[in-house]
Amino acid sequence: MFEKILIANRGEIALRVVRACREMGIQSVAVHSTADSDAMHVRMADEAICIGPPAAAQSYLSIPAIISACEITGAQAIHPGYGFLSENASFVQVVEEHGITFIGPTAEHIRIMGDKITAKETMKDLGVPCVPGSDGGVPDLESARAAAAEIGYPVIIKATAGGGGRGMKLAKSAADLETAFRTARAEAKAAFGNDEVYIEKYLGNPRHIEIQVFGDGKGRAVHLAERDCSLQRRHQKVFEEAPGPAIDAETRAKIGKVCADAVARINYIGAGTVEFLYENGEFYFIEMNTRLQVEHPVTEAIFGVDLVREQIRVAEGYPMSFTQDDLDINGHAIEVRLNAERLPNFAPSPGRITQYHAPGGLGVRMDSALYDGYSIPPYYDSLIGKLIVHGRDRTEALARLRRALGELIVDGIDTTIPLFHDLLAEPDIQSGDYSIHWLEKWLEKALA
Ligand code: ADP
Repeated sequence: MFEKILIANRGEIALRVVRACREMGIQSVAVHSTADSDAMHVRMADEAICIGPPAAAQSYLSIPAIISACEITGAQAIHPGYGFLSENASFVQVVEEHGITFIGPTAEHIRIMGDKITAKETMKDLGVPCVPGSDGGVPDLESARAAAAEIGYPVIIKATAGGGGRGMKLAKSAADLETAFRTARAEAKAAFGNDEVYIEKYLGNPRHIEIQVFGDGKGRAVHLAERDCSLQRRHQKVFEEAPGPAIDAETRAKIGKVCADAVARINYIGAGTVEFLYENGEFYFIEMNTRLQVEHPVTEAIFGVDLVREQIRVAEGYPMSFTQDDLDINGHAIEVRLNAERLPNFAPSPGRITQYHAPGGLGVRMDSALYDGYSIPPYYDSLIGKLIVHGRDRTEALARLRRALGELIVDGIDTTIPLFHDLLAEPDIQSGDYSIHWLEKWLEKALA
């Protein structure tokens, strides 16, 4: 086993990895910017090392700083968490050139899936159903018009290098196309330094269903069912659950196998998520994430497995600790993402936590790096924690979520906690009847 792992991340996910390391008897090294000297991940890891100033570009995204931290501390492997460098193929290459193990997929797989056009082509060849769309990128307005006419309106224009819901524009009809095309390109250029875009059929009322896959890098792979992440604001997930309320056992087994077989065929290693839109009983692939997802705990809850532990194991060449036959769903889990944001506009609300109390009890998991007196720095994203509940069925999970939210105290800053109290009172949420547009529509009404 590795003796020491460096965690190239911060916040709750860094803490999550520290916890897995500790249970496995592996030393953990936290890295931090000067703004994070007092952060929980720094306190909880066995060692900590400052890698730069607050700006992420000069700290959490600085490849030389992270490699130096590995060399100074003697860490043999790097866990990237999610975000930051987790899907940066060049980083993986540099890590490997230094004789350090990257806990995650190969640079090649990250590169393929990081380019959404190549990802779609690859998945299509592997037998995964995709959203109808342009064959590759659309370089100019003329080819955009031609592609959109062939696909049929409405269409969505998306950035090849996209992520985080940016660079995506809807064109309801031919009249909208020019503006949508130009703004999508401009946004893509600004956000990703790459203005290539492609076009897809816009699905009117789908759910976002994603399949958790896991490979050993040697041609074996399993699926760990789906998560329904349809409740989104600005294409960002807010509330996730597993299993999906709209997916039955037969559908799950079928799409799960398609995904597991696809990643097995490319010798994929570690955790991955194959994301689909699901409408009228059909799955449409949109992208694959080659890392641990924020919402991975709901999958851990229903299968009783530690995905970070598995990632570490396969990175070291050990087999996965389960086969497909070992993986049975037990109950239902829900996660809500808690952000330091002020309602109704979701404006960032960093600041000092004057009181923090985490909920507990049966079936409750709080993944958060908060503590009493902690000051949330203004430099990073606004996620302050994830509350995950597990029950024998969805009804029990919902009741438990309501109860746990009632116990949670975060004082001193504004948070999105009140949003979830209101959401849980909605009949559609109680019955699981929602699509990717449900939350935006509800917010428009609720916050008007
Ligand atoms: P990103 O990588 O930026 O997160 P995705 O391709 O994963 O982008 O899409 C994010 C979200 O955008 C989806 O969950 C869905 O809500 C919406 N979306 C993406 N593609 C389509 C489409 N073809 N039709 C309708 N909505 C879409």
